[in-house]
Amino acid sequence: MRTKQFKAESKKLLDMMINSIYTHKEIFLRELISNASDAMDKLYYHSLTDGNTGLSRSDLSIRIDVDKENRTLTVSDNGCGMTAEELEQNLGTIARSGSLDFKKENEKQEDVDIIGQFGVGFYSAFMVSDCVTVVSRAFGSGEAWKWTSKGADGYTVEPCEKAENGTVVTLHIKPDTEDEDYSTFLETYTISSIVKKYSDYIRYPIRMDVPTKKLKEGSEDEYEDTIETRTLNSMVPIWKKNKNEVTEEEYESFYREKFFDYEKPAKVIHSKVEGAVTYSALLYIPSHAPFDYYTKEYEKGLQLYSSGVMIMEKCADLLPDYFSFVRGLVDSEDLSLNISREMLQHDMQLKVIAKSLEKKIRAELKKLLETDREAYEKFFSAFGMQLKYGVYEHYGQNKEAIQDLLLFVSSAEKKPVTLAEYVARMPESQSDIYYACGETVDKIDLLPQTEQLRDKGYEILYMTENVDEFAVKMLMEYEGKPFKNICADSIDLSTDEEKQALQKTNEDAKDLLGKMKEAIGDGVQDVRFTNKLKNHPVCLTSEGELSVEMEKVLNSLPNAGGVRAKLILEINASHPVAQKLQSLAASDPDALGDYAKILYAQARLIEGMPVENPTEISNLICDILAK
Ligand code: ADP
Repeated sequence: MRTKQFKAESKKLLDMMINSIYTHKEIFLRELISNASDAMDKLYYHSLTDGNTGLSRSDLSIRIDVDKENRTLTVSDNGCGMTAEELEQNLGTIARSGSLDFKKENEKQEDVDIIGQFGVGFYSAFMVSDCVTVVSRAFGSGEAWKWTSKGADGYTVEPCEKAENGTVVTLHIKPDTEDEDYSTFLETYTISSIVKKYSDYIRYPIRMDVPTKKLKEGSEDEYEDTIETRTLNSMVPIWKKNKNEVTEEEYESFYREKFFDYEKPAKVIHSKVEGAVTYSALLYIPSHAPFDYYTKEYEKGLQLYSSGVMIMEKCADLLPDYFSFVRGLVDSEDLSLNISREMLQHDMQLKVIAKSLEKKIRAELKKLLETDREAYEKFFSAFGMQLKYGVYEHYGQNKEAIQDLLLFVSSAEKKPVTLAEYVARMPESQSDIYYACGETVDKIDLLPQTEQLRDKGYEILYMTENVDEFAVKMLMEYEGKPFKNICADSIDLSTDEEKQALQKTNEDAKDLLGKMKEAIGDGVQDVRFTNKLKNHPVCLTSEGELSVEMEKVLNSLPNAGGVRAKLILEINASHPVAQKLQSLAASDPDALGDYAKILYAQARLIEGMPVENPTEISNLICDILAK
């Protein structure tokens, strides 16, 4: 019989298991039981959907047997079983490459982490075993096969006898070492407590023969040794239990195991709803974004169960895109088992459930925001961007639902605030919500336009992410207060008198400003004096809907059509440079053009925009320096 080699990836994982120093080796049992349970789910689901096989849920069970003498531990099931090809494919090639990807990303981390935090599957048997055999007979097949492996050297597959469908996994337990008491996995007491700890909710009975004592027949005080078959698990899935019956730890370990996260969730939402539709939901809000979250590869969705039988691994219709980060499951008696994917999309029950989940998630996030600010801010730094996209997408259809979950850093304390908090502390004289866009908070602070607001004691919301301004434009207003970009030309906080005076200055300087505009060319729409600046000589503002930041974002997209914001060069009317321009208009009008070009270049630099003609500008500056 030829020994076959494991696939490269599998071999890596296998090596990790064989040489593992992981302290919770006991989880191998959880993995084997979970595989057995999956195999029975498959068979049961198949029997329900593909005709009548006469199978009942109560026919299915898992058995654990220990043989101390031969040092073997056996896990048997009467599930779907595997054909010879399936044995090769499933056990010769690792299915869950996700854990290895994770390993690659975190090369320095110890094995310890990856093993504890992910379901690592069948190979974990090699943490405690030096030889594993799997005897399996696929449902409906007359043949049975035996897969054997002693680890790294490879595996063999040969025909064998087995009376019924199902799988029997036998582990030959490693000899004890100085550090490791492997024999404990041959003790029924250890086994039953491991099952209770990790696999209590498995929906099929996990049975084991347990040696015990019972009263001798006819006697009142004489006992004899006997064997009793016990069911080790309670079989109630965690989401069917009442909240007070489940510990935080149980919620968390279920999450890690089922959804392969290595960190605790930020929030657990367990709800049972009875009414128009009846369902239980167990939802988790992760505390960090998965590495593929903001990529095309990420698939949203919740596991969908119908009366305890999983019918879909990722039901996308249960979650709106803006809550795509939520993981978890929904179990409802009102859904038909045979429902197809296409039918699901039109299923009324499902729509009702989705709507009620959305409300629930929103309410829970709101609660987190109100009761645990730190946790919420951490959550928001992971998924806030998704919420902002949610405001923006579908033409703002969901903006009202999401707006109160948003946070933006504000200039007051340089801390994230909600829109409600911002509005609540607006001074009476302030009628708009002010925001400014830029790469970082520090860079925004350097914008000349911030001066006038700071003087008035008005808070500014910093928009540092590409999506921010698009989301705000979609919101338009919050509690009747419009959003205003401080870099828009329409922002003017001066008094009516000041405005009139400025208007006159600009009218008187019409020729001068016209010359400047001409020298700059298409770069700007207009050049004018302003009194919104204090110390800075110039700034660029934008007219209309498209701001400078939006121009930057849009032009960074693939196939950008070269959109341009309508820019206005504003010159500080009370800055010495304004007087200089006035006097040049009289004495040396030709020089005005050069000044205009330099001032425009300065304004672009301040805005974080490239200067289009750096050599020309540099030469112009030198000319003036040399004078
Ligand atoms: P995972 O369970 O994450 O897919 P495993 O390494 O634990 O990864 O198992 C690999 C595959 O082997 C399973 O997906 C399943 O198809 C098959 N398998 C394992 N154990 C059994 C079993 N007891 N009965 C039927 N198939 C099984």
